[in-house]
Amino acid sequence: MRLVLLGPPGAGKGTQASAIVEKYKIPHISTGDIFRANIKEGTALGKEAKSYMDKGLLVPDELVVSIVKDRLLKDDCTKGFLLDGFPRTVNQAESLDSELSKMGIELDRVININANAEILIERAVGRRICRECGATYHIKFNPPKVEGVCDKDGGELYQRDDDNESTVSTRINVYMEQTQPLIDYYGDKGLLLDVDGTLEISTVFELITEALDN
Ligand SMILES: [Zn+2]
Repeated sequence: MRLVLLGPPGAGKGTQASAIVEKYKIPHISTGDIFRANIKEGTALGKEAKSYMDKGLLVPDELVVSIVKDRLLKDDCTKGFLLDGFPRTVNQAESLDSELSKMGIELDRVININANAEILIERAVGRRICRECGATYHIKFNPPKVEGVCDKDGGELYQRDDDNESTVSTRINVYMEQTQPLIDYYGDKGLLLDVDGTLEISTVFELITEALDN
């Protein structure tokens, strides 16, 4: 199963990614993780990537693609993979297609966890976190028994600085604008699997696996 996972911040992508890779026994390939690993191990690719990041520049597409390609050639990818955080642009998607075709393989599905921006904003803005144990609550969907106090240890609940409405809505709108061409690209290829990320976590997972198994 060769998959790409797309979804705006806060739509539950991480949770679904873990469940998918466990069910299909495929590696979860997060480009963020690969970059960090390459940099930590001091590989040639890692050093090159770091030289851009140190200057505050975006890592160029060719470099991102070669890092991903390098990862896809490892033995654990023979049964498939779940790509997360890549591709981000149509240009990267085209490069990925051409690299995969050189390897004699192609993508099976692109899972797009969809969610309405207003709902994502409401979810993020209402989130509260315990200072003691890190447990998360939501003022509306999962409130603590006593307002502002953790049920487990009585710790104080706080709101993360970047969970305010303007930061969250900017983050989501930027993501949606940047990703729409990619969604159209995979839609045209007939690979897109749209799933409503505002449903229950278990329902979202069922919808994904039903579609993948058919
Ligand atoms: Zn707590």
